[in-house]
Amino acid sequence: MPFTGVDEMTNDPVRIAAENCERYHVRHWGNGYFSVNNKGHLCVLPEKREDGPTIDFLEVIEEIKNLKISFPTVIRFHDILRSQVRLLNTTFRSVIEECEYQGQFLGVYPVKVNQMREVVEEIIDAGRPFDYGLEAGSKPELLAVLALNDNHNALTILNGYKDEDYIRLALLGRKLDRKIIIVVERFSEISLIIRMAKELGVEPMIGFRAKLAAHGTGRWASASGERAKFGLTCSEILSGVALLRQQGMAHCLKLLHFHVGSQIPDIRFIKEAITEAGRIFVDLVALEIPLEYFDVGGGLGIDYDGSRSASESSRNYSLEEYAFDIIDGLQYICDQAGIAHPHIVSESGRYVTAHHSCVITNVIDNIHQTSNTLSTERESGEHNLVSTIRASAHDLNESNYQGIFNDIQQCKDDAISAFRFGVIAIGERARIETLYWDTLARIQKIAAVQPFIPEELQRLGELQASQYLCNFSIFQSAADSWAIKQLLPIMPVMRLDEQPDVSCSLVDITCDSDGKIDRFIAKTGFEKTLLLHTLKPAEEYYIGLFLTGAYQDVMGDMHNLFGRLNEVHIYCDDDDPNDFYIEEMIKGTSAQQVLTTMQYNPELMARTIKKEIDQQVHQGKIQPREGVRLVDFYENCLADYTYLKF
Ligand SMILES: *Cc1c(COP(=O)(O)O)cnc(C)c1O
Repeated sequence: MPFTGVDEMTNDPVRIAAENCERYHVRHWGNGYFSVNNKGHLCVLPEKREDGPTIDFLEVIEEIKNLKISFPTVIRFHDILRSQVRLLNTTFRSVIEECEYQGQFLGVYPVKVNQMREVVEEIIDAGRPFDYGLEAGSKPELLAVLALNDNHNALTILNGYKDEDYIRLALLGRKLDRKIIIVVERFSEISLIIRMAKELGVEPMIGFRAKLAAHGTGRWASASGERAKFGLTCSEILSGVALLRQQGMAHCLKLLHFHVGSQIPDIRFIKEAITEAGRIFVDLVALEIPLEYFDVGGGLGIDYDGSRSASESSRNYSLEEYAFDIIDGLQYICDQAGIAHPHIVSESGRYVTAHHSCVITNVIDNIHQTSNTLSTERESGEHNLVSTIRASAHDLNESNYQGIFNDIQQCKDDAISAFRFGVIAIGERARIETLYWDTLARIQKIAAVQPFIPEELQRLGELQASQYLCNFSIFQSAADSWAIKQLLPIMPVMRLDEQPDVSCSLVDITCDSDGKIDRFIAKTGFEKTLLLHTLKPAEEYYIGLFLTGAYQDVMGDMHNLFGRLNEVHIYCDDDDPNDFYIEEMIKGTSAQQVLTTMQYNPELMARTIKKEIDQQVHQGKIQPREGVRLVDFYENCLADYTYLKF
């Protein structure tokens, strides 16, 4: 593109859009599915091709508004989900072929990562050509998995702690001729399985979960290592084998399992785990246990912060490298021992689901210290502190800004003491605070262009940062951001052809001071603020929280009684003028549904309110017509969405 002058270069929207794409690290976390179009809107590339179908977020938002669906909304892109399932399976298959590995890849999707029926059904459908199966870790998950996994060639892997009913359910599945493998997590489950199998007269398929010594670095490092909650030690494995053999059931032991934790940042750890588990595998085969499956669990990471590093929110390997290290590592050990290559099972859930969903929320307001219009003109008889800070503000220039900073700091602290002692009144305190924040903003502007910024002034940016109030609850929609400081990509979905100019942190609408996001992805580590656009009075501003498809979608709680979000499910359609259609809309929780889960009876509540209004009407304090309106209003609010309406 030819540029004719500096001004045109800096104001060129196409160029700014490209810069914003870079600023929000879209290409890094987007895994090829996200891009910015020439209208300055974020868009989805379901086929990962710039010249393929493109779904514009603003078109989606327009359609959501036409359908009268309120924000915040979860948007699911089913094509991304399907694409990730295909990618996982085809990558393992092609590495297997390349390495001339003799076993097959038989992946399973662990439903705990996202149990939504629509999500699981889509995964099963997309995985059918690969005999992709399911994994469950609890009784309710097992009930779901039994009903959903109708492909008899696909595996069903059962992890988690088990009781009699859990095992009975699993054996019921065996009677239906499903390939269900019960993975033993603790030693006493072995005799339980033996007893139940004899009782029901069914031959079980059993797996042993090994407790590996190898343990990683990431957030979930404690999922393995000697103090791990799950799995059998080497001596328990050998005792277990003896126990099964005694009962004539050693041939039922089909699978060796391990799971070293989710979101493994460093590939080195995966290699170590494969080696250790691989040795256990070949030694068990040497004991004439006819093991057929080697299950590597989950752990395949997502590059949330786009840094491609071994930091907690990233990973230092690709899917191909992950598959290669598993296949090559296992092949080497098996060949050395001269045994057949087992089928490889993986339980990657985060990788499959993270990208497909996001939360879109509208920014409601900018909460800012200086957002007032109070006059700071001299008033007769004003306290000396007001005159002092005004004089400092007046004197501010490039050579004295550090001194002025110290002066106004002192003045503000003194003003608060004076206020407490009743020496100054609220009007004077307000004027001092206004002068303080105005001057601080000017100091920050001066300091920003200096070659050296003193340490105490470096924090000014954070102090001055705006807080954008967003219509969502972090406890419902981004649980990991609150609980374990997970970084999630967050960015505007519009105005990306304009330079963002407001340094912000985000606050949610809960009454909890933890309800905020002040860690954002950066080139290295994280930043405490995110650069967003100045809000326009008459225009909605939409931002998105991305990669929420794994865990976040289903782990949220109802803090402050904010319920589940409205959802729209999007499918790509190349023949549609906008390249998409909304296939389904699922209504979020209503206030009365949320209240019911907390044991309230909304009908009774409405009746109580009506009774009291009727009394007031009776006494002539409320007009009958108004009384009816008030009752209707209360009932409508009960039936309505829990989030704010604008
Ligand atoms: C949670 C879990 C998984 C999923 O792990 P991801 O890293 O999210 O893919 C797999 N297997 C077991 C046993 C799990 O507990």
